Amino acid sequence: MPARIIDGQAVAKRIRSEIGGAADDYVKRTGAMPGLGVVLVGDDPASAMYVRMKRRACERVGIRSEAQILPAASTQQEVEDAVRGFNEDPAIHGILAQLPLPDHIDEEAVLSQISLAKDVDGIHPVNIGRLGMRGREPSFTPATPTGVMILIDETGVPVEGAQAVVIGRSNIVGLPVALMLTNANATVTICHSRSRDLPAVVKGADIVVAAVGRAEFVKGDWLKAGAVVIDVGSNSVPDETSEKGYRYVGDVAFESARQVAGYITKVPGGVGPMTITMLLANTLKAAQRIADIKQ
Ligand code: NAP
Repeated sequence: MPARIIDGQAVAKRIRSEIGGAADDYVKRTGAMPGLGVVLVGDDPASAMYVRMKRRACERVGIRSEAQILPAASTQQEVEDAVRGFNEDPAIHGILAQLPLPDHIDEEAVLSQISLAKDVDGIHPVNIGRLGMRGREPSFTPATPTGVMILIDETGVPVEGAQAVVIGRSNIVGLPVALMLTNANATVTICHSRSRDLPAVVKGADIVVAAVGRAEFVKGDWLKAGAVVIDVGSNSVPDETSEKGYRYVGDVAFESARQVAGYITKVPGGVGPMTITMLLANTLKAAQRIADIKQ
């Protein structure tokens, strides 16, 4: 039987509607909207597009968004000042530095400037450190990995005791997903570009998270029958049949994988819609926490 599709679009829509309701309640309670501050440096079209998408998503659920758009040649000081400005702005409850930053900017130094209470992207080094330490709670967990965990939860397949394989160890996806799966009591294997015999490693997994950045990299015959497969990848490939001349595919060869997996996400329509939704959820949470403290 082909795998059941985990519909990220539907899950995201449900959660966004809950966020919209809670944002209305927040306005009634405080007289102001929750606010997200975005720092964008340079003119990378993909980054500009992500920032526009985030702004539209904010508007739809009743979160105010404000962008500081800085030229590519900005200095370290100017970028950090933009972050510090949002830290001090009481109308801004969450701060996001759109990555990647230009090469001459020290990314860690910029992220470290974000107030922990406003780190709605969950990638302040202290928050990532807390995620990896037993008995510590990060202020926020990163958006894409949190979305991945919710999609796994949707399947009803227990994470506790499961064998999980995460392919990819990036700071924003692979590593935090692996930490979150470990915290949920899975037995986790992290694979990367130097891992040997990936198909054999993946074959042992009840849960597979692919965050590689290579089109259709994970093949169906690598998978254990019935596995939960979460495809984080978003790769554009040429497609003459599409108006744009390209389409997006994941890191998993979907057609072969769905014949073997128990549950699988699609690309697009899987993890993607969850990422922005989790950013909205964290921004609302940040605003609510700040309001609770003031009361
Ligand atoms: P990244 O920073 O490029 O990391 C890719 C990871 O894959 C690295 O850890 C790398 O290993 C590993 N890798 C590369 N080639 C491999 C191979 N042949 N075998 C095993 N591992 C290999 O990418 P990322 O930022 O994590 O993103 C991963 C994918 O997710 C991309 O397609 C990206 O577009 C997508 N993404 C989607 C969302 C969303 O919201 N849907 C959000 C973020 C990212 P090394 O560490 O050894 O180099």
